[in-house]
Amino acid sequence: MARAPFQLGEHTIQPGQRLQIDVPVARLYTHTPLHIPVEVVHGRKDGPVLLVCGGIHGDEINGVEIVRRVLRAKAINSIRGTLIAVPVVNVFGFLQQTRYLPDRRDLNRCFPGSESGSLGGRIAALFREKIVDHATHIIDLHTGAIHRTNLPQIRAQLQTGSETERMADAFGAPVILNAELREGSLRHYAQTRGIPVLTYEAGEALRFDEWAIAPGVRGVLRVMRRLGMLTGEQRRRTPAPAELAKGSSWARAPIDGILRPKVRLGARVAKGEVLGKVADPFGNDEGEVRAVADGIVIGMSRLPLANEGEALFHIARFNEIDEAETAIESFNSSLVPPPDSFY
Ligand SMILES: [Zn+2]
Repeated sequence: MARAPFQLGEHTIQPGQRLQIDVPVARLYTHTPLHIPVEVVHGRKDGPVLLVCGGIHGDEINGVEIVRRVLRAKAINSIRGTLIAVPVVNVFGFLQQTRYLPDRRDLNRCFPGSESGSLGGRIAALFREKIVDHATHIIDLHTGAIHRTNLPQIRAQLQTGSETERMADAFGAPVILNAELREGSLRHYAQTRGIPVLTYEAGEALRFDEWAIAPGVRGVLRVMRRLGMLTGEQRRRTPAPAELAKGSSWARAPIDGILRPKVRLGARVAKGEVLGKVADPFGNDEGEVRAVADGIVIGMSRLPLANEGEALFHIARFNEIDEAETAIESFNSSLVPPPDSFY
């Protein structure tokens, strides 16, 4: 029996077709209509409906490039199931090069949203109804916030043997965080609906970090292969399995001042180790930022200017830290170029 067409609003996508659709989302106050750009690839054969989306935070653009490259991958022309690719969800923020919506709300705190709510609530509701509720699986692409960079990592709620765990394993990021769900996030909404969902966090806002983009593209394709959406041989070797972090915490600036970091993203650090020094511009007052636990630096500030209490280094803790270090070394060795030095 032939597969049913895919319906998105008034658009019908036949099996074997792909279609780019501009989903109307709002108007700018200039009267200019604003759309969320979507491409639907509807395979000939039945399979999962995977949503891959970037830019829920409008300044997180590594995911935009990941989506573009996934859509250009040859294998996408003959998928089983359906790929819904959304490079930019928060089009307002993307235009303004900011994380937020014009009302300063975070779209990723607005789900499930409501048609009569705030601007954020309305966009969340529209995106959910038109797109998210059609998906059987989701990969949500993020980066660190402004001036923060993340070692490529998967965040998900992992139950042993779950579909989410299968997807997280397949992705091949060096670190997996069993992360708490934030109320109002897309991940929270999807999880409560029983839709397996991964968040990929890699690189810095407002940057193209090749070491975050290339593994992101490979990760999405690997998940598609694991879900049975891609046929044919896998050409690249699978990386060393990621270690599941048992928790994470931030090392913070002890005083107001200017940071000189001493460790790199991905570094293994010991509890109490000096990660960086913060001093005033003369160097009179100086404070040391120390690791709060043994672990791996999975995120750090890229802005050397810090106020007391500011989060500077994100340290993940592991039961098997040797394995975690091995996974990261294996990951780094597969990259050209590797993550930057200190900044
Ligand atoms: Zn984000």
